[in-house]
Amino acid sequence: HSLLSKPRHTRRIGVANQKGGVGKTTSAVNLAAALADGGLHVLVIDMDPQGNASTALGIDHAPGLPSVYDVLEGRKELSDIKQPCPDFSGLDVVPSSIDLSGAELEIAGLPNRTTLLRSAMQRDDAINHDSYDYVIVDCPPSLGLLVINALCAVDEVLIPIQAEYYALEGLGQLLNSIDLIQRHYNPSLVVSTMLVTMFDRRTLLSKEVYQEIKKHYPALVLDTTIPRSVKISEAPSFQKTVIAYDPRGTGAVAYKEAALEISQRTEDVLGSIDMHREVN
Ligand code: ADP
Ligand code: MG
Repeated sequence: HSLLSKPRHTRRIGVANQKGGVGKTTSAVNLAAALADGGLHVLVIDMDPQGNASTALGIDHAPGLPSVYDVLEGRKELSDIKQPCPDFSGLDVVPSSIDLSGAELEIAGLPNRTTLLRSAMQRDDAINHDSYDYVIVDCPPSLGLLVINALCAVDEVLIPIQAEYYALEGLGQLLNSIDLIQRHYNPSLVVSTMLVTMFDRRTLLSKEVYQEIKKHYPALVLDTTIPRSVKISEAPSFQKTVIAYDPRGTGAVAYKEAALEISQRTEDVLGSIDMHREVN
């Protein structure tokens, strides 16, 4: 498929939703792979102690291996632990590991506890010189310090929303938390994108959920929805994204379309999103 256009500056996107199992990691890794497959230079930072993004991108994350944990604790720089994804040139990964599950408590007393990731990114030459077109940060399912660190280090939030009956439950709380982070810590933060995942074309419920989200957040929701697909759920067990595992399947095609749609939202369009009007 065609090459995607490069953004003028690095776009930093956090993929967040405090609900588990809504497609955060799947969306983070597959959008990153689709962007890299389209010729762009992408960095994925795995901020979830589960390390599912690291797995899907083919990076070992056994306990004790160097990971983003060492960066948050000040022992290593991002450049020390960055690794290339074996399936796509131009896609680098900062893996997490289960060691990260202790980090929230360990950093809780530090005065700079919310900005550890942001500072590490500011010290990274490749990020500083706009060598990456996209930096995508996969968040754990919580609203704790790891997520706050992630959302202090990005400008945009992408919220995956599972097309199910309780889709909108918890969304208000998530948006309020993002709003608090924006006001207290990171004035440039906006919710730029909502992506409906596990969409089932055959059910009325999926369509109703999409319409409902579209009604509340018209400027944020992508036209592209991600279908429920067995290949998408199988791919991680082969340490692959669906973009590498089943490149012509419906799942890969949908993530490529979503990546294209995201890349076409220019800085002007993003600048015009008034988060407060859209969100409240
Ligand atoms: P989160 O990171 O929000 O916890 P995941 O991305 O890990 O969610 O997805 C939760 C589970 O659902 C995983 O087993 C994943 O493989 C599966 N999954 C995600 N998206 C899809 C999809 N579009 N079709 C089928 N299974 C999916
Ligand atoms: Mg996840």
